[in-house]
Amino acid sequence: MTRPEAMSTAGTSHGGFPGYGDASPLDLDHAGASARRGMVDRLLGGTFEAWSDAAARVGHCAQPIKLVGSSSRVERATGEVVSSYSSTQEPFGVTYVRCGNRRASVCPACSRIYARDTFEMIRAGVVGGKSVPERVSGNPLVFLTLTAPSFGPVHTAKGGQRCRPRDGHEVCEHGRSVACWQAHESDDLDVGTPICPDCYDYTAHVIWQWWAPELWRRFTITTRRVVARAMGVPASRLREVATLQYAKVAEYQARGVVHFHALVRLDGPKTADGYAPGPEGVSAGVLAGMLEDAAGRVGFDAPPCAGHDVGRLRFGAQVDARSVTATRVDDPDAPLVGEQVAGYLAKYATKAASDTTDPRRASGHYRRLRATIDDLAAHRWPEDEYELLGKWTHMLGFRGHFSSKSRCYSITLGALRRARQRWQRIAADSGRDGREMPVLDFADLMADEEEETTLVVGSWTYVGTGWDTDADTALALAAADRARAYDQWRAEKARTTPKR
Ligand SMILES: [Zn+2]
Ligand SMILES: [Zn+2]
Ligand SMILES: [Zn+2]
Repeated sequence: MTRPEAMSTAGTSHGGFPGYGDASPLDLDHAGASARRGMVDRLLGGTFEAWSDAAARVGHCAQPIKLVGSSSRVERATGEVVSSYSSTQEPFGVTYVRCGNRRASVCPACSRIYARDTFEMIRAGVVGGKSVPERVSGNPLVFLTLTAPSFGPVHTAKGGQRCRPRDGHEVCEHGRSVACWQAHESDDLDVGTPICPDCYDYTAHVIWQWWAPELWRRFTITTRRVVARAMGVPASRLREVATLQYAKVAEYQARGVVHFHALVRLDGPKTADGYAPGPEGVSAGVLAGMLEDAAGRVGFDAPPCAGHDVGRLRFGAQVDARSVTATRVDDPDAPLVGEQVAGYLAKYATKAASDTTDPRRASGHYRRLRATIDDLAAHRWPEDEYELLGKWTHMLGFRGHFSSKSRCYSITLGALRRARQRWQRIAADSGRDGREMPVLDFADLMADEEEETTLVVGSWTYVGTGWDTDADTALALAAADRARAYDQWRAEKARTTPKR
């Protein structure tokens, strides 16, 4: 019988992973008594091994989708049935499919796949790979951060420096001291909260957040104009000399307002494969200057909200645009390395607001932000620009995408997903027929997609979501956690093992 501790990463070589083997069973302490009983039932009833296989096949998804039905793979040209599959072949008569949720609080296993795909997508736009030509790594690339302006002083972590040293007697109109002599650590819960909540402009904060996606849109338009002028062409003809590509993520700062991080790349005029060498004479440094220029020019006159007119919205003065190179240079002042930036962006792409277990979300500051949104939303008039504001309270008023990219920045997440599914299917087919798994790289899988000669026909019915018992869910979560720990350990080992 397979024991629980043997299931997490079965079938792979562990090469000394400390979290594997009899000495370190899966962490099931948080599973309740009924979960433990359910687990014992599986072991005694002899269904543990079959369930463990099913869980492994969906990558230990926490709440897989359950389907019943059948499908056949048919040769397009001849109509011949190449293979067929039915859920009745499965040990429990049900086919489990990954939930695919990108939020870690819903499904840790599936959100990790999303994070990995996002990393691959962003990385391919920096150094090439996954069907993106390597020559993109020669194009000017800038890592850009656009922040919100100040809505009032907040407590800030300043790397050991005092937060807000001021004359001890100076007070605001609410009688509160305007000084803070503490040196906050970055995980200090006060960080991001206002020095005086009554001085803080909650209304302006919420209205800025609501229009942040519009500011980003205007920024991309302004940037094209700035680049066109620098290259001596009208903006309408920019695409004849250059195209701007980007991958962008929105991330909440401690004060509860988003800022944008983006990798912006300047390609030459569009070619058949969509990735042209960058235009002559524009370095990453020059591109960084153009982006800073554009960010300073962007503005949007927000319509009044519930009688509040906050005037022209802008990005904060603190625009950070830094050159990125594809390869590492051993110099602390050298430009950022693409690989690191890709990892950084991918991490934030998966960290949506609803997902933060950040204790700040329960703070008075966040409560007041949400109350301000509810207040403003209650005042709306018909056909108001703010009609939907109240539906975004849980996002603190941010209605944009947490992660997006321009069309030709890189490969799409959809193409990555389809390639993975094809790989899994080929692996499953090989396993079933007892054939050896062919060695395939990504290009093969992509090419295969274009030359698809077979068609899948089938009929499936949705019968539910999630594992049948708390015990199964607890086991899947524990195994997913173990797999994550193993991947981390392996990555760390690869990082610390010197390359030869
Ligand atoms: Zn899942
Ligand atoms: Zn402070
Ligand atoms: Zn005050």
